[in-house]
Amino acid sequence: MNCSIISVGTEILFGQIINTNAVYLSQQLNELGLNVYYHYTVGDNSDRLKETLAYAMSKSDLIITTGGLGPTQDDLTKEIIAKVVGKKLELHKPSYEKICKYFKNIKRPMNKNNLKQAYIPKDSIVLPNDCGTAPGFIIENDGKIIITLPGPPKEMRAMFDSYVKDYLRTKSECIIYSKVLRFFGIGESALETALTDLISNQTNPTIATYAKEGEVSVRITMKAENIDEANRGVELIIKEIKNRLSQYIYSYDDEELVEVVAKKLLEKECSISFAESCTGGLISSKLTSISGISKCLDRSIVTYSNEAKVQELGVSLNTLEKYGAVSEETAKEMALGLKEKTKSDLCLAVTGIAGPTGGTKEKPVGLVYIAIAYEGNVICNKYNIWGDRNKIRNYTTMLALNMIRL
Ligand code: ATP
Ligand code: MG
Repeated sequence: MNCSIISVGTEILFGQIINTNAVYLSQQLNELGLNVYYHYTVGDNSDRLKETLAYAMSKSDLIITTGGLGPTQDDLTKEIIAKVVGKKLELHKPSYEKICKYFKNIKRPMNKNNLKQAYIPKDSIVLPNDCGTAPGFIIENDGKIIITLPGPPKEMRAMFDSYVKDYLRTKSECIIYSKVLRFFGIGESALETALTDLISNQTNPTIATYAKEGEVSVRITMKAENIDEANRGVELIIKEIKNRLSQYIYSYDDEELVEVVAKKLLEKECSISFAESCTGGLISSKLTSISGISKCLDRSIVTYSNEAKVQELGVSLNTLEKYGAVSEETAKEMALGLKEKTKSDLCLAVTGIAGPTGGTKEKPVGLVYIAIAYEGNVICNKYNIWGDRNKIRNYTTMLALNMIRL
């Protein structure tokens, strides 16, 4: 079965809102094993909507519309669909009662326009609106299915999740199974280059790469008759990707880097402390987003000034004068000082230049040192990060988490 999505609303054509409904529906339909062939966007105009609907019906077996189910004059999706399929609009009593109750509750008079929302094309399956007043509906007509959903994303999603998904599962002949691998330390284009042959030779499973804030994901999706078959196909591809790029993979289950790090710390019962300079607490803030991490996280000290590095961590004045605050020597002394002070199993210190000011030729903006004191050793990595202040601080946080993971 192939599908079309029609997004109704002049505000989408004007670029006043982003068409998140189409994105959501496409993702959901794909996961259900249904192929989305077309997206149409049309304004609140009856002739153009009629034309679009007729065209979509000539191309697809399933058409999903969103928007234009409200009470106002420009909400005309339902009326047009009823006309196109030759069905009369009928009063749907439960929806009528629900709308009456809603107006009684908010103590506002109900007018004729509000009543309009309770009319549904004859012979359709009514989809209750658990987050609003306008019901949606499904019409099966001449081998075609039209599903009509409200425009507000919250209402549309709730209706799709609660009522449409189960209906569509009965129409899909296969299952869709996907796994997401997460990578750190490799860019999207390098990753795609490493997998070019796999990506272009595969139609089932498909392999797609996505880049997001310093990391890359690979989604492997397989259509199959049953879960075992799908699992086998996906695992074969994962094995091949692992052979080529295992050092960059930090999750085989679409987890965040911080989740993987927290899991590892908790498993090892490893206590941890941070001394943060240029990240100002971002690393520990990220880690505290994980519930239960209090078993491992002892403290984080933001040592921004040179004085704080000396007073809180015992960094020597000599080191600061000779090498500067942003140096391997200072980062190592910060980590060792923190270890001395906290006795945590793992102590991580970070110092760097987040910019945009403060860089020099020798020490440019984006220069970052991250040191780790662990099991009697201290190691330090030097990084040159490109980007604005935000990017440098966020990427430093990711680099620090990745060092803990390894
Ligand atoms: P209402 O009862 O609110 O009038 P409706 O079903 O008539 O609902 P629209 O009037 O088309 O829907 O849209 C209502 C609001 O929902 C829009 O102003 C917009 O904020 C949001 N919306 C509509 N369509 C989309 C879409 N495709 N993607 C994201 N948001 C949308
Ligand atoms: Mg409306």
